[in-house]
Amino acid sequence: GEPSIHAEKCIGCAKCVKVCAAGALEMFYTPEELELLKQWEAQHGAAGEELDPAEKKLREMLATYRGVWVFIEQFEGEVAKVSWELLGAGADLARQLQVPLSAVIIGHGVAALCEESFSYGADQAIVLDAPVFGNYRTKPFCDALCHLIDKHRPEVILMGATGQGRDLAGAVATVVKTGLTADCTGLGIDDKRNLMQTRPAFGGNIMATIMCDRFRPQMATVRPHVMAMPERLPGRTGVVVNEEYDLREEDVLAKVIESISDKGGKDIDIAGAEIIVSGGRGLMGKENFAMLHELAAELGGVVGASRSAVDAGWMPHSRQVGQTGKTVRPKIYIACGISGAIQHLVGMQDSDVVIAINRDPEAPIFQVATYGIVGDVFEIVPALTKRVRTMKE
Ligand code: FAD
Repeated sequence: GEPSIHAEKCIGCAKCVKVCAAGALEMFYTPEELELLKQWEAQHGAAGEELDPAEKKLREMLATYRGVWVFIEQFEGEVAKVSWELLGAGADLARQLQVPLSAVIIGHGVAALCEESFSYGADQAIVLDAPVFGNYRTKPFCDALCHLIDKHRPEVILMGATGQGRDLAGAVATVVKTGLTADCTGLGIDDKRNLMQTRPAFGGNIMATIMCDRFRPQMATVRPHVMAMPERLPGRTGVVVNEEYDLREEDVLAKVIESISDKGGKDIDIAGAEIIVSGGRGLMGKENFAMLHELAAELGGVVGASRSAVDAGWMPHSRQVGQTGKTVRPKIYIACGISGAIQHLVGMQDSDVVIAINRDPEAPIFQVATYGIVGDVFEIVPALTKRVRTMKE
């Protein structure tokens, strides 16, 4: 059942905090209670908080970690956009913590990425440049990053929740024995310098804020397009810290034989689109997506889908928007016959403009819509396409 406090019995002694087997309880005081505590301490001569030696040691250890890092993911020198987005988010954290923001660049021939990192907000670039880092492989990147962590002791590390980021973050967190929160949708700093890592939990029914207050560094991944792209300021400068890590190619078991790009391949990436026309179960069938493709083509956009539409086999999974699909932030998102379940909303609610078409005026999608059209998609979508066409002529 719901955890509850027996208000008449609880005297705030905090014994429960000490005996909880999972160490999951913490005491919180309201400002009024804190004031009362202070008065009591003043009267009874309690000289502030008495920390037991283990707790004191832990706090001293945590305090030796300083700085915010963003891992700059790149493939053949081309940086994944999510890394720049994370420099934007990291800059806010670094400002609050009053520490420098560092871009961590591991690769071969990647010196040019330092300037780029500065232009997106990094104060310093920590670089490991060697042939062995030419292609991403878990082992060398994990070893190298762990070495850098050991040496510089950052308090926060952010990575993109991409294939590479998910692989590396999990491996590094395991080796350095710290916590990792995947797919964060919000990041902040609390009054004890801890990173507040917010993400949907329990199937998106609640937003959980996860803390890692007894280990460092605090590690989080964030999906592409969740954080806003920071402004690029060319010419902004920073400090380059060139590092070395002794690792021979012979010691790496995995070899990259060939890289095959799927660019221009099977499907487009809806995550980067500026206009998305999405269809849900209200479309009633695969063939009806043709009408969305028509509208998208007129607007220069792409077609997305809800999970119901994907599960029904009407659209491929690569087009799915939402918690188990892609997070999108287009200029215009048009939701057609989509009810607006929380798992869908978390993937699109940061779009600049949301236009919802649904015949049910109570559909939750209208709560996040900039413009809501209550009506039948089969009438409204073709009418919109026609209107856009005439406007263009
Ligand atoms: P429905 O909820 O069935 O809504 C159809 C809507 O169409 C209704 O509002 C109806 O009024 C309207 N409609 C019907 N006919 C018409 C018409 N002719 N004209 C206009 N309107 C019409 N969902 C996602 O989308 N993405 C995810 O990534 C995702 N991940 C999930 C992860 C988990 C762990 C779970 C539990 C669920 C997830 N879901 C996800 C599923 C989500 O909960 C919903 O079931 C799903 O989004 C519903 O899709 P829908 O809106 O297309 O269908």
